[in-house]
Amino acid sequence: MSRAVNVVMTPVGGICNLKCSYCYLQLKEKFTSGKMNIEIIGKLVEKLNQLNKINKVTFTWHGGEPMLFTPKQCELAFRVIEKKSVIDYKHVIQTNGTLISEEYIELFKRYKVSVGVSLDGPNFEANSSRFSKEEQFNLVVKNIKKLLLNKIRTTIFITLTRDNIVYLDDMFLFIRKVHPTSFYLNPVQKDGSDFSAEEWCKVIEKMNQFSYDSKIPNGLTPYIEEGVKGRIPKHCLLCGVCNQFILVNVSGEVFATCSYPEPETFLDHLDEPNIKQKIADYLSKVPSISKDSIYAKLGEDRRYVYFQGAGCKQNKCQENNAVYVDGVVKYIQRMEVK
Ligand code: SF4
Ligand code: SF4
Repeated sequence: MSRAVNVVMTPVGGICNLKCSYCYLQLKEKFTSGKMNIEIIGKLVEKLNQLNKINKVTFTWHGGEPMLFTPKQCELAFRVIEKKSVIDYKHVIQTNGTLISEEYIELFKRYKVSVGVSLDGPNFEANSSRFSKEEQFNLVVKNIKKLLLNKIRTTIFITLTRDNIVYLDDMFLFIRKVHPTSFYLNPVQKDGSDFSAEEWCKVIEKMNQFSYDSKIPNGLTPYIEEGVKGRIPKHCLLCGVCNQFILVNVSGEVFATCSYPEPETFLDHLDEPNIKQKIADYLSKVPSISKDSIYAKLGEDRRYVYFQGAGCKQNKCQENNAVYVDGVVKYIQRMEVK
């Protein structure tokens, strides 16, 4: 059966023009920095072309802040992919939204790039871990509006912490007003403080109700519903399919993760003769059912068999994965009662 692969491209490594206080990249001392050269991108596409049974590639441009790659460099990268790829592909960029220029907007339109913009809430106060000046918040909101005016698919990702959850109702008002293509609230641990599963479940319920009322889809509950209906949820956090992701760093090293590249996830360099086989083996691995999975926590009920993985806990990209999973478990249990 053919399948999709998600390639996380880190064109400037972990370099970012912001310093969010909860950013896990800031804690890493030596995330590879520099700029990815076009030759690496060409080699990557050649390797992907040689993989059997891959029918779709999503290039997710990530950081740090990927827009520190200039529009010119980005255009060259997109052109090489366009010229060389024999597999259907799409581009997604995940950005803090501060560096969006007219040039970038033109590029996004031309290459049908979907954009994810991260924020911490609906006002400057809620973004105190992210911005030092109110103008920065205003600029990002202005840039989101520009993207939407130009009909670019734009998702707002709001990082939810103990500090900014007091603005939850205002977050929904803000999303309704800006009206992005979709949105997502993502709970993270800050200063060692987690949400409870109950709190996360209530946020999920609110997201779902809001999407129903506003017709602005959220990036979680439709996937939960898919899983409950017996289809594989297209959301790695739910089904733990971490093996759909590889990450390429600025020097052309390939890692078996979507998250921070660590020695344990290192596959090989794109120049190594065995790299194609190593990627193929990794992608074809069947993820084992985790005892921390939603499926296990719901009593191994066959109806939830696709909620198999432990997701991020395995790759430790989120410290509060247990809350994440337990909140979804509660949400499903309440769906059953209704
Ligand atoms: S914008 Fe993203 S990459 Fe940059 S410091 Fe904040 S969380 Fe980290
Ligand atoms: S590490 Fe987490 S975010 Fe990354 S693929 Fe796995 S579940 Fe998804």
